[in-house]
Amino acid sequence: MAVNLLDFDLEGLAAYCESLGEKRFRAVQLFRWIHQKGAADFEQMSDLAKSLRGKLAGAAEVRGLVPISEHRSTDGTVKWLFDVGGGNAVETVYIPEDDRGTLCVSSQAGCAVGCRFCSTGHQGFSRNLSTGEIVAQLWFAEHRLRAPGSAERVIDNVVMMGMGEPLQNYANVVPALKVMLDDHGYGLSRRRVTVSTSGMVAMIDRLREDCPVALAVSLHAPNDALRDQLVPLNRKDGLDALLDACVRYLDKAPRDFVTFEYCMLDGVNDAPEQAQELARLVNGEAASRRGKGRVPCKFNLIPFNPFPESGLKRSPRERVTAFARVLQDAGIVTTIRKTRGDDIDAACGQLAGEVQDRTGARERLVQRRAVIPIAAAAGEGAR
Ligand code: SAH
Ligand code: SF4
Repeated sequence: MAVNLLDFDLEGLAAYCESLGEKRFRAVQLFRWIHQKGAADFEQMSDLAKSLRGKLAGAAEVRGLVPISEHRSTDGTVKWLFDVGGGNAVETVYIPEDDRGTLCVSSQAGCAVGCRFCSTGHQGFSRNLSTGEIVAQLWFAEHRLRAPGSAERVIDNVVMMGMGEPLQNYANVVPALKVMLDDHGYGLSRRRVTVSTSGMVAMIDRLREDCPVALAVSLHAPNDALRDQLVPLNRKDGLDALLDACVRYLDKAPRDFVTFEYCMLDGVNDAPEQAQELARLVNGEAASRRGKGRVPCKFNLIPFNPFPESGLKRSPRERVTAFARVLQDAGIVTTIRKTRGDDIDAACGQLAGEVQDRTGARERLVQRRAVIPIAAAAGEGAR
């Protein structure tokens, strides 16, 4: 199969070009054509030496993902479902805000972590996405949404909060992050690329060394007993080790805080006493962390998005605001996440839920295709 140029960060592309006997600056040109202009056809790359175009033809290609559907919410959110083969699909969500455009990107088809409250977790793990498949989500969305002929960027914020655990697909995620950050690629600031993790301590340490971007950690519980239930991988390292890794990460992080995500589950983790326990934990006042100091952090409370098999319910609004108040009173900046794209099931934890249970996945893909054929939507700009 032809080499997919979306699989390469700039270093990788330079090495590939060298293997074809071409100089590094040719790789820069090629990289800019692909990522900045959205080009896939080598013939279109007019300032690229004819000899290189000739060598690329047949040997390489820019292989994006095949979109199955595109749904547009009344609030401007856009959700795409991409076929990644073998009956698997992944989703990507674009969320426009007043001052920025955010893309929520998937890193795996399914997820092996198996969190209780997450529909991706309930589907089980299918496979890691390649670097090219991760980058293709941004490549597709950016160039689909950008006004024709414009060079102005539409997406200036990427969050790895779609399907999958990014740090369990580390080898493919890191080069994808590098493409997002590269000035010749998407030129995103490190502060505006966020890896969200359920908390893999050793990998957080590696990310700090290899590619420190903004870090979000999905906490969901104030103690190990509850977190072990909700996020099974907590049984490996535990909260104390996780919080220590967060503090170490901040040495190199582009922001001076870690974002803690906390999914609000009715009657499970949303009591005011649990908020107090949480505040003591991150403020270094819990018995376990006494003497270790504060973990510089912000909290983002996520209203749970229910799905039938979870057996869990969303916390009532008042309970979420009361929980937030306890954290705020303890000096912790806390926000409540707005749910976006509700009418198109684009909210956290709902991604590709309908198509990912594997039994009958193929039929459902076909059904979805029948609902909104991508070709019919082609050509409209989101803005
Ligand atoms: N695997 C990574 C990133 C993907 S999940 C992680 O767990 O951090 C992105 C966020 O969505 C996480 O904070 C996760 O806890 C949250 N989430 C998962 N299922 C959810 C649901 N049903 N309702 C609300 N948030 C959910
Ligand atoms: Fe995986 Fe994140 Fe879902 Fe947990 S919340 S199952 S880590 S995608």
